[in-house]
Amino acid sequence: MQPNILLVRYGEIFLKGQNRPYFISALVNKVKQAVKPIGAHVFYSDSRIYVRADDLDDCARRVCNVFGVHSVSLAIELDKKDIDVIGEAAVSLLEGKKGTFKINSRRSDKTFPMNSIEISTEVGGRVLEKRPDLVVDIHKPEHVVEVEVRDMVYVHSGRIMGMGGMPIGTSGKAMLLLSGGIDSPVAGFMMAKRGLMLEAIHFASPPYTSEQAKEKVVKLLSILSKYCGNLRMHVVPFTKIQMEIYEKCPEDELTVIMRRFMMRIAQRIAEKTECGALITGESMGQVASQTMLSLNCTNSAVDMLVLRPLIGFDKTDIIDVAEKIDSYETSILPFEDCCTVFTPKHPVTKPKLSHIEKSEQRLDVDALIEDAISGIEIIDVDSEGRI
Ligand code: ATP
Ligand code: MG
Repeated sequence: MQPNILLVRYGEIFLKGQNRPYFISALVNKVKQAVKPIGAHVFYSDSRIYVRADDLDDCARRVCNVFGVHSVSLAIELDKKDIDVIGEAAVSLLEGKKGTFKINSRRSDKTFPMNSIEISTEVGGRVLEKRPDLVVDIHKPEHVVEVEVRDMVYVHSGRIMGMGGMPIGTSGKAMLLLSGGIDSPVAGFMMAKRGLMLEAIHFASPPYTSEQAKEKVVKLLSILSKYCGNLRMHVVPFTKIQMEIYEKCPEDELTVIMRRFMMRIAQRIAEKTECGALITGESMGQVASQTMLSLNCTNSAVDMLVLRPLIGFDKTDIIDVAEKIDSYETSILPFEDCCTVFTPKHPVTKPKLSHIEKSEQRLDVDALIEDAISGIEIIDVDSEGRI
């Protein structure tokens, strides 16, 4: 007997109270989207999500990337509630295994004539008949076979851990400021995991930033789409703004003023696209533009909520996540970002908002923003990372 169905478990913390049906239907929809390309069938029954597919391993990989999924198990589904057949299923799941085992049973179908302890004992006995080399250990078994007697019987062994988190969209939608660096894709991933649907914005400064630099950001976007589904990115032409700042403002304030422009434009696009927050990859003290005073100046340019999930992360912690989500290799490709092209030699680390605002008076901020927004290019990727 081979596993023929996938059992999907979801995090229980989010299932309390009135939000339960909303959360579950969102999760079912996300699982459906994730397995659509392989033609799998998803259904919800008896408080559990199930998936039937030809290739259950591929199916499990896809479902484990869905936020809100706690874990999955490849199970043998039996429509016959017969203890001998259940025993055979347990034996086949232990094929090739050595050492100790235990049977764990649960019975929600109370019409089944044995209780859970009796089921475990009977199934364990049948396993030992066929596999006298195995030893029962109920305290620290190497293998656990689980038997669930519900409307059908499910027999499975082992769990593949999912991403956890909450289904995308259940927390609303936010605009991710996506650069080509290591941090912002990780920031986007973390907020998507908390249930936010993402839209992205990228600032490019051609000809100082190359076509390859843009392609790298598109690649990062498609990596994120593996977890987030379809994603849209607004690519904003930023050269003119940077040149104006460069010409008219003090050199050491360049980065902070530039970051304020990014935030303002991001907020404008966020409002147009019904995003309730901005997301950045900023981390306290990482660079001059991320000291507390610099962050305060950046923050003051907008009145929208700004989420900075990496604020308390060390770079090494961020890299760990980047490796886990597979963005690291792309992020370290050596293409320039607009921030690296116009970097002052000695950026202010303790900017004063009043000074920055004064410097900005030399610029026609609104006109520059309008002009940049009118040149936006939109790039869409689907959940398979295709443009
Ligand atoms: P990252 O690794 O994400 O590039 P960083 O450490 O290089 O971050 P900064 O360059 O100061 O830091 O940028 C801080 C944040 O500002 C980024 O995490 C990102 O959210 C946003 N950002 C920076 N450059 C761009 C850009 N070209 N387009 C969109 N957002 C940007
Ligand atoms: Mg950067």
